Amino acid sequence: MPAITTFSAMMLIIKRAEDLSKYTGRERLAGKKIGFVPTMGALHEGHLSLVKRAREENDLVVCSIFVNPVQFNDPKDFERYPKTPEKDILLLEKAACDVLFLPDVEEVYPPGTPNNEVYDLGYLETVLEGKYRPGHFQGVCRVVSRLMHMVQPDQLYIGQKDYQQCMVIKRLLLLMHSPCHTVICPTLREPNGLAMSSRNMRLSDEERIKAGGIFEALSYIRQHLKPGPVNDVLEEAQHILQRNELQADYIAIAGAEDLGGIDYWDGHAEAVALIAAFMGEVRLIDNIIITA
Ligand code: AMP
Repeated sequence: MPAITTFSAMMLIIKRAEDLSKYTGRERLAGKKIGFVPTMGALHEGHLSLVKRAREENDLVVCSIFVNPVQFNDPKDFERYPKTPEKDILLLEKAACDVLFLPDVEEVYPPGTPNNEVYDLGYLETVLEGKYRPGHFQGVCRVVSRLMHMVQPDQLYIGQKDYQQCMVIKRLLLLMHSPCHTVICPTLREPNGLAMSSRNMRLSDEERIKAGGIFEALSYIRQHLKPGPVNDVLEEAQHILQRNELQADYIAIAGAEDLGGIDYWDGHAEAVALIAAFMGEVRLIDNIIITA
């Protein structure tokens, strides 16, 4: 396949990192504002909402699809990650994306080059996702920093669904001294509240219905959290998960700004309730903001 393939009059598909850098470099010099949406593909409406927002706010929209091997702490999860490239291309064209970067692993991690940078993520790496998925956020930083160097966007579009990841990426951009502005987009949900996720493709119809229990539990917390100890609402949230056959890794309430654990809520601090739970073998995460 040639390095740059024009798939349609609408979208350019670029396979090589060098070609991507050259292309975005030229567009930047021509004065275009660049919005970037990194993804792992198997696209759904949630991803497309990021692309559409980027479309509204930039002259050039670049989306990447790359299932990043170094952010999977479970090799089976990596192998089973859904891949739907043809459908993704059609969806991106419809969303008026300008450029799709679709690299092989060697383009992102060239053989023979070091691939072991360590980022100082502090506390963020030891709690919640950091605790349950050791190494995951270092892997996220490795891929995002490489993609950022290639695209050098003005604006980066990421989803609140991955709340802790948003905080990690903001920290990464600070560490990189990147001038890029981060735009955090709201979570799109199925009608039963289940956050849209590529992993939902691995659920049966019945499991999808039950997985709505995650949003039910988060909504319960938001509705019933009162100033004082948080144990009781967390316990009820756990019952909601159990009733729906969801196995929790964690159910937590934390400071919205720093993800510091909250055992006792003062009734004022903006907080976030976060859940990671398994439906069968599929691990799902979601969160909800709680304002006083
Ligand atoms: P992923 O392909 O899962 O790595 O996600 C790519 C981007 O899409 C990330 O910034 C996610 O936070 C975002 N995203 C994933 N699911 C949703 C959703 N349901 N609503 C909005 N954004 C999402």
